[in-house]
Amino acid sequence: METKGGVESCMNRALATVRAATEVLTSAGCEADLLQGICDITVHHGAYRFAWVAYPGEDGANQVLRPMAHAGYESGYLAQVCTGRASSCAGSGPATTAIRTGKTVIVRSDSDSSIPGCDKADFGNSRSCIALPLRWNKETYGALVILASRTGSFDQREAEELGELADKLSAGIYSLRLKKNHRSVERALRNEKEAQEALSRILSLGLRPISLVEKLDKVLDILFEVSWLGLEKEGSVFLARGRELRLVAQRHLNPELQCLCDSVPFGYCLCGQAAAQGATVFRQHLGDDHPVRFDGITDHGHYCQPILSSEGVLGVLNLYVPAGHIQDDAESAFVRAVSDSLAGIIERELADQERQRLAAVVEASPDYVCIGDVDATPNYFNGRARALLEHCGISDYASCRLFSDEASERIRREGIPTALREGIWQSEGVIRMENRNLPVSQVILAPRDGSGKPAFLATICRDISDRKEAETAAEQIAVREKQFANAVINSLPEIFFLLDFSGRLLRWNVNFERELGYTSEALAQMRLTDLAAPSDFEACVEAFTAARVAGVSIEVELQTLTGRKVPYVINAMPIDEPEHTRAAIVGVGMDISNRKALEAEMERRACHDFLTGLLNRHCFTEHLERELDRADRYECPVTLILLDIDDFKSVNDAHGHDVGDRALKHVASCLQNAVRSADVLARWGGEEFVILTPETQLESGRFLAEKLRVELERARFSPVGTITASFGIAEYQPREGADTLLKRVDNALYAAKHAGRNCVHRG
Ligand code: GH3
Ligand code: MG
Ligand code: MG
Repeated sequence: METKGGVESCMNRALATVRAATEVLTSAGCEADLLQGICDITVHHGAYRFAWVAYPGEDGANQVLRPMAHAGYESGYLAQVCTGRASSCAGSGPATTAIRTGKTVIVRSDSDSSIPGCDKADFGNSRSCIALPLRWNKETYGALVILASRTGSFDQREAEELGELADKLSAGIYSLRLKKNHRSVERALRNEKEAQEALSRILSLGLRPISLVEKLDKVLDILFEVSWLGLEKEGSVFLARGRELRLVAQRHLNPELQCLCDSVPFGYCLCGQAAAQGATVFRQHLGDDHPVRFDGITDHGHYCQPILSSEGVLGVLNLYVPAGHIQDDAESAFVRAVSDSLAGIIERELADQERQRLAAVVEASPDYVCIGDVDATPNYFNGRARALLEHCGISDYASCRLFSDEASERIRREGIPTALREGIWQSEGVIRMENRNLPVSQVILAPRDGSGKPAFLATICRDISDRKEAETAAEQIAVREKQFANAVINSLPEIFFLLDFSGRLLRWNVNFERELGYTSEALAQMRLTDLAAPSDFEACVEAFTAARVAGVSIEVELQTLTGRKVPYVINAMPIDEPEHTRAAIVGVGMDISNRKALEAEMERRACHDFLTGLLNRHCFTEHLERELDRADRYECPVTLILLDIDDFKSVNDAHGHDVGDRALKHVASCLQNAVRSADVLARWGGEEFVILTPETQLESGRFLAEKLRVELERARFSPVGTITASFGIAEYQPREGADTLLKRVDNALYAAKHAGRNCVHRG
């Protein structure tokens, strides 16, 4: 039991503590200082043995309680209490009980023995303990634990006073936390404002008339001016070209690094990884995946933030952070926002560059280009078009009428609707110029915007006057060439023709029509082989089939419309002229009627006697030998008759040689009329004639000779009168040969002469 004085002193120390606490409660700048100040006052002013503030242990940590401040520390005590089994949340230690229940817990010990439910550790070397919950607005922050060395401390009044201290401390904690929250909210708002300002400055950079590199440089400057970022003032911007990053802007980068990072392949080093993955790469330190190094490089970390567009990776924003820097959500979000703004700037720049390039090309194009609204109101003409308008004296572009009325009407009716519907319309037209019309090819384009509607109309006209002139010149040349070719073809003395692969007539000259007698309408339906004489048809087909691949020359008879057969020699060959894509064969045919007649005459003269027209001796001998061969082979009879005009010398002498010639013709004619068709009659020479009678025996031969003799005698010839002849005949003896036969018949003739002439003798 404590004495009254002891109670008083207990009371006093509690009051002293509470009084002294006022200063700390009002002046502490932060929660830690407040807790520590209260603990110090409790020990130093209240003369308690030990005071500490316990907050609940953090989830996952191996502590059930967290000592936030203490005074009068006893070595090892807090570690034991905070991790002790009895102090677990479910345990019954004074601190945990006070926190769990929100009620003051007082524990007194009269001896060294532990009190039920409590470890010795809960008291250390003290005899009494009070654990006061620190609560405000139903929230329990923790407990103020005070230990006294005397037994029987912490009676009701002392406990009430200390309870008041705990309440004030709770209020102080609440107030400091409120202030702290306000401060952090204020800071966050300030940072946010600064970030927004920086971003809007970056965005406005996109509109300034400076180069992309200058813009990127300035973005880095703006970034480094943001006060709350934990970045080093060092960084760079890469732009992607293909699968490679190119360093285009940097601030405070080591010159060696500038060189090493000049171009970085996708996937290489941190920036390359960010580009390849399309995701932020953050590192606290130079690690193994930071292969870009140089002597003397100091440890540092990075934000490597890819600059992304919907199309892909545009580049990488590379920012340096101090080694060990912890990635911060607000900072990361800001870096991402900056990279998004950069994406906008780069995309706009690329689009501008593209637009400028296209505009430069269009402006310098040799074509006439006009761009206008979808209602066809023009609002841009390129250099060539403007020059044309100036040349034409047109200043009011909006209502200019460059095209001819007809062309304008066609564009209005057909061109623009087609382009608006299908995106493009192409045609040829004419631009009206001061003193001539300019032929142009024209294209109307109607590109679509994002919503699929036509965005504008572009008309592109190309001067095709050179081409047109060339075409006209080529046409004129072609016409002249055709006229020349026709003149040549028609002046040919031969027939000319062009056939297609089926042999059908494609083209022919006037000679062809004239010689064959057909009209051009009829010929257009015919094949050349249709004109061949029936006997030559097969040969003709064969020759013209061969002429598809190689030149041929044939003699063929063509039949005219009237049925007359005309011999031709035709030279034909294949052709592959592009003008005649259907043509296969070209040919020229020459009428060889005269040549054929001449040949026949020559042949006739070679075999016939000039005066009498009978076979001559040479030809007769060939006949004779052929016939005697046959007689030898088939043992058929042949009889030969030889006759000689009697006293012919006196005819010549009496009437002259001319009469003698006519007399010879007269005799020949008499003989010719009297012999049979199978007999071969010839002039043997002078006034001698010979007759070969095949299939004829001697008797029949003699009968024939007799008949001839009588006919000749009977036929009077003026002015000579009667002409007679003597005849020798002989039948061929098998294998005796022509000479022997002739000899025998000659002997027979001689015998007839000897016998008085005008008679027939057998040999
Ligand atoms: P023979 O009765 O004995 O036969 O008496 P010949 O006068 O007829 O016989 P010869 O042999 O003496 O005379 C043949 C004559 O035929 C001599 C020659 O001038 C004549 N003669 C031969 N060939 C021709 C000819 O082509 N024209 C003419 N006019 N006379 C011819
Ligand atoms: Mg004679
Ligand atoms: Mg005679």
